[in-house]
Amino acid sequence: MAFLDKINDFAKTATEKTNNAIEATKLSAKAESEQRSLNAIIQKIGEYYVAKMDNGEVLDDEVMSIYEGVVASRKTITEIREEIEALKAPKETPLEKASSKFCPYCGKEIEASAKFCLNCGKQQP
Ligand SMILES: [Zn+2]
Repeated sequence: MAFLDKINDFAKTATEKTNNAIEATKLSAKAESEQRSLNAIIQKIGEYYVAKMDNGEVLDDEVMSIYEGVVASRKTITEIREEIEALKAPKETPLEKASSKFCPYCGKEIEASAKFCLNCGKQQP
């Protein structure tokens, strides 16, 4: 019977290992969830003090130097957003309009400085 006992022991150990792994995974998820809650609380504390400094309140030097980073970061975000808006804005300007003309032979819009029409190939007057 010793051989069967060994097999049973092996099976029991394997089951235990699997259960432990499942339990460890569950606990990891729980710890991560708790960490997220903690981060949210810390962020709230940060927002509380940032709001005070936004209102002109002067806090201790260390906090004020961290706040400089907040101000710099906000400025960068604003600049990036302005850049995005500039990219979205319509590109056609009156200047560009003035630099084009219509070919008198075929009527196609071509560059004002073009010597020949790109559409019909006729020399421009
Ligand atoms: Zn033409």
